[in-house]
Amino acid sequence: MTNDAPLYKNEVMLLSQTFFIKDNQAELLLCAHKYDFDILFFNEVQDFVMAVEGDRGNSLFVIDLDALHSMQADMHDSRKTLMLGELLQRLPSEQSYVYLQTVRQGGRYLLQQRLVDSNCLAYAEKPIANDVLVDKLFTLFVQKKRGDLVRLVYLGEPVGLDEAALLQARVEVIHHGDSQTLHLRVKELQPDLVLITDAEYERTESLVRVLKKNIEADPVREITMLQRHPNAALTRSALASGFDEIILMTDPDVLAAQLINRANKIRVNKDLIGKDRATGLLNKIGLQKKAQELIRQAASEARPLAFGIVDIDKFKTINDTWGHYFGDIVIKRLSLTLAPHIGERDLLSRFGGEEFVVVFWDCTLEEGWRRLDAMRQAFCAIPFEVKPGDTRHFSFSGGVAAYPEYKSENELFLRADAMLYEAKEGGRNQICVAPSGHGKSSQH
Ligand code: GH3
Ligand code: MG
Ligand code: MG
Repeated sequence: MTNDAPLYKNEVMLLSQTFFIKDNQAELLLCAHKYDFDILFFNEVQDFVMAVEGDRGNSLFVIDLDALHSMQADMHDSRKTLMLGELLQRLPSEQSYVYLQTVRQGGRYLLQQRLVDSNCLAYAEKPIANDVLVDKLFTLFVQKKRGDLVRLVYLGEPVGLDEAALLQARVEVIHHGDSQTLHLRVKELQPDLVLITDAEYERTESLVRVLKKNIEADPVREITMLQRHPNAALTRSALASGFDEIILMTDPDVLAAQLINRANKIRVNKDLIGKDRATGLLNKIGLQKKAQELIRQAASEARPLAFGIVDIDKFKTINDTWGHYFGDIVIKRLSLTLAPHIGERDLLSRFGGEEFVVVFWDCTLEEGWRRLDAMRQAFCAIPFEVKPGDTRHFSFSGGVAAYPEYKSENELFLRADAMLYEAKEGGRNQICVAPSGHGKSSQH
């Protein structure tokens, strides 16, 4: 870690009322620091707007609507209170905001409508406990990360889709020209969406059945027919033959917008199935799928993989001493510590409660040990303020196994888990790649 790295990676800028802040500031900050983000408090719109304009994309902006009561519209005229409309107008429109409102404000539909139409990222109702607010803000930080690419395979005459715009929205379009080999291409690319024109369907009526009856077909995949002219009989037979959805072609931009909406829903569903809500990392299911894919790629490109398992030391004691809620924060901080060590083609998963799995692409056993040990040192270095003035450090142990020595995801897991056991037996706070006495482990 370099010295000029900011202490807190993310910032929340909060425009709030002075007296609300005074009561709450210390506790709110303590909560936020546990999650590794900072809160900057503002009580002047002007300063807040300047901070929003100067932001480099790492921040969330929160506005407590009660702040309006204590703010003046005109610095030279203290009698004139700032109105909501004026405030919203002054907020830079290229950003979005989290609004804190009272239940009474939320009950006024016009006000609510006004807010959600004003670059609203989310709104929350007060009173809201500090730890709840901080936890929700953390989730928003997690969600701000770039969404996964949704892959679409297209069979048929191109219809002038703006593929650059689709890619911007994280939808990748891959054209396939031959209905007879579509099933092979789908097997190879594992797309989330398959779009087939009505003409292709009319030519090869069995297309969808061939795709769907494969026992290994992804049940979440959507197969959609693009229909150029309304034709109820054709729609009916397409639905009966297994299409999930029919999109009536009007114009290419409308089609692109429809596909982006579908892709967003698919992404949410995939995330719900394959990711951990608390940390945004892959869960066990998501990892298994991706790890199998990575092993296939490693085999075809003849590259090594290093598979590591991490388990926090004496976590039961952490829970028992400072509570389950604090334990959860330690888990989230561990995820934040591991993430920057992960490359574009590596995998990181919260496999279970306080257990994480990493898979390093193109990485030997030795190199995997070195990288996991660097993560271990980074985690050990974090000061956790368990109470004001009382700082503790925690550790984890890890085990590593490597492909091609171990071939399948299951074999890799079992071997890495056995090495994790060695690390625990050997005194914890270390990474093992071989039984004790037979190789490398690190201890501090
Ligand atoms: P060891 O060093 O041997 O790993 O000791 P340990 O206390 O960490 O033992 P172990 O890994 O077996 O226990 C993990 C405990 O973590 C058990 C469970 O109560 C707790 N736990 C599991 N998931 C969560 C979670 O999501 N949040 C919190 N706060 N605790 C969890
Ligand atoms: Mg455990
Ligand atoms: Mg443990």
